[in-house]
Amino acid sequence: METPEQRIQIAVQKTGRLTDHSIDLLERCGLKLTRSKDQLICYGENMPIDLLLVRDDDIPGLVGEDVCDLGICGLNVVEEKRLTRESEGRETSFKQVFELDFGHCRLALAAPDSVEYEGPSSLENTRIATSYVGLLNQFLSTNGINAEAVYFSGAVEIAPKLGRAEYICDLVSTGGTLKANGLREVETLLNSEAVVIQTQKPLGAEKQALVDKILQRLDGVLQVRESKYIMLHAPKSALAEIRALLPGSEAPTVLSLDGSDDKVAVHAVCRENVFWETLENLKAAGASSLLVLPVEKMLA
Ligand code: ATP
Ligand code: ZN
Repeated sequence: METPEQRIQIAVQKTGRLTDHSIDLLERCGLKLTRSKDQLICYGENMPIDLLLVRDDDIPGLVGEDVCDLGICGLNVVEEKRLTRESEGRETSFKQVFELDFGHCRLALAAPDSVEYEGPSSLENTRIATSYVGLLNQFLSTNGINAEAVYFSGAVEIAPKLGRAEYICDLVSTGGTLKANGLREVETLLNSEAVVIQTQKPLGAEKQALVDKILQRLDGVLQVRESKYIMLHAPKSALAEIRALLPGSEAPTVLSLDGSDDKVAVHAVCRENVFWETLENLKAAGASSLLVLPVEKMLA
């Protein structure tokens, strides 16, 4: 077995909104995992890759401090960490490599229903409760507003009721929590989703090759999600129109059909979902024998 130095460490959220998606994604890259008894590590059985299960807020730090080679967490956490480091005069020591299309949310500024909001100037000389002091201060300084960020580690939405702040700045997805607390969204500071971050530390050749491999597989899994393989027969005269109708496809393969001079078979990978409307439009353009298949794996 490899020494820990040779194994890749990936930091993922231990329990929370990102956990299942993160683990599922890595399993779809071909990683077989077993959890340690204390539930803090998932060992890769078939690849020298282990997952460290931690709080999401710790992930950029762990990747930045070279404890982990890769990490999966929300862009909100990544950006907040970057700004905090910047304010301390330190450089960011991790880089962002992929957006993962899950964990979608936004960092929003919300006002109590009773308070009139006429734009950022309404925030002047107010107190705003948040767990995202860095991102909030960036917004305030961009807008030239003088306001106080009051740090709350959780339950930010109750701050106005407690008289601790006039506004709040928190993560929102559906807006249900805000509504239940008599608040409404007035500004969006950041649109966020889960991302993969990578250490900036130079890795040994073997380890780097493994990191590249897992990133390439992740890219493949992400591309495959919406991709479809489409097969159809088309009159040669309609080929240009049919090609234009294929959603997100690169050069399709055009094959001759045995015993037919005027018809060809067209095979294409479509990088976007193929809807019934698309098939109906293709049929109207002259296509026949249409077949759409899911793509399981893809390697560019
Ligand atoms: P811990 O710090 O224990 O890991 P947490 O309470 O900070 O957990 P979750 O609530 O599970 O974490 O959120 C994790 C991430 O999920 C957030 O940082 C954000 O990127 C994303 N997310 C998506 N939708 C929401 C939402 N409605 N509220 C909060 N986070 C959301
Ligand atoms: Zn957290």
